[in-house]
Amino acid sequence: MTLTAKTALVTGSTSGIGLGVARALAGEGANVVLNGFGDPDEIEALRQEIASTYGVPVIYDDANLSVASEVARLVTRAGEHFNGLDILVNNAGIQHVAPIESFDDERWDAVIALNLSAVFHAMKAAIPLMKRQGWGRIINVASAHGLVASPFKVAYVAAKHGVVGATKVAALELANEAITVNAICPGWVLTPLVERQLADRASAHGTDVTSEATKLLQEKQPMLSFTTPDAIGAMAVYLCSDAARTLTGAALSIDGGWVAQ
Ligand code: NAD
Repeated sequence: MTLTAKTALVTGSTSGIGLGVARALAGEGANVVLNGFGDPDEIEALRQEIASTYGVPVIYDDANLSVASEVARLVTRAGEHFNGLDILVNNAGIQHVAPIESFDDERWDAVIALNLSAVFHAMKAAIPLMKRQGWGRIINVASAHGLVASPFKVAYVAAKHGVVGATKVAALELANEAITVNAICPGWVLTPLVERQLADRASAHGTDVTSEATKLLQEKQPMLSFTTPDAIGAMAVYLCSDAARTLTGAALSIDGGWVAQ
C-alpha cells in the first residue's frame, strides 16, 4: 500500500479507463473521488463496492466537466472533503468522428471543452492545493492521438495534442515543487468509448463489431490486442510512486507500438 492517506480525484471514473485508474489507486490505499455520468443507483453501488473492496473512503460527485465552474467546484469539494488533494487524474473525455467539412460546430466545442479546457481548469484549481502540502501528482490521460493524427477526429486530435502541451507547461512550472505532471497516451483500450465507435463502424459497413475490432487494431497497432483499463491504472500507480519523482513532463505511450511506426 503506497498511497495510504493520499487523496485521488479521477475524472470520468464511472466507466472505462477512469474506473480502472480509480480501482488501482484505491488498491494502493488512496481515498478516491469518483466523477462521471451514469445511472445514479449503479454509480452508488459502484461507490460502495470500491469502498468495501479496497477499504478506503470513496465519494462521488456528478460535476459536468464541460462547464468550467463545475470543474473548479469539483476540485474544491474533493480538497475540502479529504482535507487536501494529492493526485489529480484528468481522464474524462468524449469522441466525435466526422470529416472536417461536415464536423458539427457544437461537437467541436463540446470535445474541446471536456477533453482540453477541463484539464486546464482542473490543474488550475488543484495546483494551489498541491503546493500548499508540498507534494502532488497530476496525470492527464491523453492518447496516441496526442502524438499523431488520424483522419475524421479533428477535435479529439487537436484537444489531445493540446493536453500533451499543457502537461509539459505544468511540468516546467512545477519542476521544483515536488509535483510531477505527465500524460499517458494509450492506443486502443476496449471501453464504452471504443465500443460505440465499433458499433458505428459495423452499422456503416454492414459488418459486425468483432470484425470491426480486428480491423481497428490492424489499422493502427502493430500489436493486435487491446490495452486494458487495469494496465492504465498500474501505470498511474507507478507515476504516483516515489520511484517516479523525477519523471515529469513526459507523454508516456502504452499503445501496442502505434506511434513507433
Ligand atoms: P468512457 O466513455 O468509457 O468513459 C468516459 C468517462 O467520462 C465516463 O465516466 C463518462 O461518464 C465521463 N464523462 C463524459 N462526459 C463527461 C462530462 N461532461 N463531465 C464529467 N464526466 C464525463 O471512455 P474511455 O475510453 O474510458 O476514455 C477515458 C479517457 O481515455 C478519455 O479521455 C479518452 O480520450 C482516453 N483514451 C481512450 C482510449 C480508448 O481506446 N478507449 C484511447 C486513448 C485515450
